[in-house]
Amino acid sequence: MEDRKLYLGIDYGGNAVKAGLVDTYGQLSGKTSWPTVDLLDKVACRAFASQVSEFVHGMGVYSSELGGVGLAVPGILAQGSFFVPNVRADWPMLQKCLSQALSKPEISTINDANAAALGEMWMGAGGNAHSALLVTLGSGLGAGLIVDGAVVTGGHGAAGEVGHMTVVPHGRPCKCGREGCLERYASARGIVQTFREAGEAGYLDASLFSEFDPESDTDALAVFRAFEAGDPRAKRALADMADKLGFALAQVACVADPDVILLGGGIAAGAAHFIDDLREAFHSYCLESCASTEIRTASLESDAGIFGAARYAMMSSPRDSAQRDWLDPDFGL
Ligand SMILES: [Zn+2]
Repeated sequence: MEDRKLYLGIDYGGNAVKAGLVDTYGQLSGKTSWPTVDLLDKVACRAFASQVSEFVHGMGVYSSELGGVGLAVPGILAQGSFFVPNVRADWPMLQKCLSQALSKPEISTINDANAAALGEMWMGAGGNAHSALLVTLGSGLGAGLIVDGAVVTGGHGAAGEVGHMTVVPHGRPCKCGREGCLERYASARGIVQTFREAGEAGYLDASLFSEFDPESDTDALAVFRAFEAGDPRAKRALADMADKLGFALAQVACVADPDVILLGGGIAAGAAHFIDDLREAFHSYCLESCASTEIRTASLESDAGIFGAARYAMMSSPRDSAQRDWLDPDFGL
């Protein structure tokens, strides 16, 4: 087994950038975060890179001691090009500045959902799985897919875009320009919309739902509270989400056959309200050979991206690639 080495994982999110040092065995030895800012020119990219290197050096680590650097970004990466609509940054420039500041020839760059899936598989709820799907249920629905230990991106970087699988032909319009996508039903926004539609259909009992913010399209926690209070609209909204999500996950299982499906994101905090229905739906739609696929909640929360980015850097490192095999019983223990 190789010596312990440190890897830097950077999770570049739409609101915050998180960074942490993770060693070969998955120990997180320090982390930090900054608010996300525009990085549109060399000056801004350099300033960010020096902020990152100050964090590393502040942890008492020289750049030369870093085994590699992983960068998770919230968008689609394909053949060297970036499609990251929620963050304004010159990504090639940022990679170059990080490379210079940290004395590393390459910055291993990965989609954030795939990074989170990798992190969960390695040190989170993934257990000993070799193939996993992480579904992040927030205001939308993101997903990361690992098959046989490898990050799956596909020919156009769109592999694992589970949120845009059509579950209702000609259904609710989606920001992708299509209709009936899963994330329009299985997300905070989707739950709230289903709840409201159920209310319009005559299930309204205002006394159960006085806290609900009528201006918020994404206040799924209010739907959870209504569910706890016995509101039939909330029951219907969560049952509908569980059914459509279970249906979509069963289709994914036919293609990618994950050992485990993990639920992350803000909505997963209320998984107790719908996970039994979700498992039941999945089992009713899946192939018999996928019936043992486990569905459970993720465990690393907001650190999953840091772990995954660091892990991706480790897997991408030429020096360590011989040890990246998930089947190696000593690696990562
Ligand atoms: Zn869509």
